[in-house]
Amino acid sequence: MQEENQRFVLYDLHTHLYGCLGIEDLYRLEKRGATKRWNIFINSYQLAYGEKPNIKGLFNREKEASQRLKNYYCNFPKGFPAFQSSFDLIVSVSDTSPDEIQEVCQWVCSSEDADYAEYRMLFPYPLPQKEYENKICSFCSSLSKAEKSFRKQFRAILSLSRDTAHAFEQYRIVQRLMEQEREVAAYLTGLDFCGQEEGNPPSLKKDFFQKVLQNNIQDPKKALSILYHVGESFSDKSLESSIRWVVESSHLGAHRIGHALCLGIDPSQYEGTTRNESVRERLDQIEFEFSHSEGIAEFLDKEGVRFPKQELRQEAEKLCIQAPSQAEQSLQKISIHYTPERIAFVKGFQNWAMTELRLKKTVIECCPSSNMRIAGLKSAQDHPLKRFLDNGLPVVIASDDRGLLESSLTKELEIIEKWPELSTSDISGMITRSSHSTSEILSGRKTKTIA
Ligand SMILES: [Zn+2]
Repeated sequence: MQEENQRFVLYDLHTHLYGCLGIEDLYRLEKRGATKRWNIFINSYQLAYGEKPNIKGLFNREKEASQRLKNYYCNFPKGFPAFQSSFDLIVSVSDTSPDEIQEVCQWVCSSEDADYAEYRMLFPYPLPQKEYENKICSFCSSLSKAEKSFRKQFRAILSLSRDTAHAFEQYRIVQRLMEQEREVAAYLTGLDFCGQEEGNPPSLKKDFFQKVLQNNIQDPKKALSILYHVGESFSDKSLESSIRWVVESSHLGAHRIGHALCLGIDPSQYEGTTRNESVRERLDQIEFEFSHSEGIAEFLDKEGVRFPKQELRQEAEKLCIQAPSQAEQSLQKISIHYTPERIAFVKGFQNWAMTELRLKKTVIECCPSSNMRIAGLKSAQDHPLKRFLDNGLPVVIASDDRGLLESSLTKELEIIEKWPELSTSDISGMITRSSHSTSEILSGRKTKTIA
């Protein structure tokens, strides 16, 4: 398969620019001399591990410090907070000035093994508008330069704030810039939502998605894809609610979804466990199940489970008595225990949900190393990739944060080659799929494959 990969043009459609920085790049970045913002890393580390990191002499290259840095950066354990803490190590020694962005683009693009890559970048926001614009311009012009140096294709994806009001402001800035700056119009091809998903339901982005999709139709030359990280980390809710968030993102019109693990993960892994979520989340879930009851019931039937109409109605009534106001519903938590019956329900619900994504042609970006580490999956069998493929979902393989994860797109493909259930044609199918799933194609800006 390794030789066969050579024949394919490789597309990396889910990769974060600064997450591509390897440990040597991190040393280079630190040396550039940006004002250090250690508090960002310290706070994030404390949140993940409950203690302070030791930053004394962290970059001095002595043996003990080098190991410590490596541990903080690459050897993080499972879970999103630990990953975030590693990423925040980059943030704490970076200022994302236009000059820095240019250098980082050169470093990253020079080590890129894919032939085409869409790099995502989240700039801190709010910022003075001019400063924000300069960063975006530098991002796009640096990728334009790097394309010429490395004879590959690179595109910019701007990661927006999960806060909807800020996202609207950022989008307006982007639209103006695309009118004025040729390189931004040419290289910026998509918008992404990343970072902590907990507390940021996709339903709050309904108007935003609509606006972007409408504008895409009105002016296809400046169309932007909507990329959405969801269903990767769902510590604050039930499996069912997490699956709903993925389906909602797809229904709202996200072109590609990052990870969506909850959609296909084997729910029997959760048997005997208890998860907590707010009363509000549970009520939203019940309402959602009711509004799609016919479709869901059909898939439950296949699992030998009936749609629990009566029980759901009673549960909703009880919850509304227990927490009558919106404020109480958001504050009060309920526990959901995963009995064999509930597991069977989740299985049927997932099968319905996967069909919804298939019908909407929403592409799932699967990032094997990232998924195994951040979601803490124990083995290839725990990963939903095969189930996604069996259900006919369009899936692409991507590298996510190859610097922190010490990986690359080629390595990711080599990893899944060893996954026992995947065939060579499964893998080549996903590589081909990625060539049809670039932001420009999915947003309607281009109609043909690029390479
Ligand atoms: Zn990502």
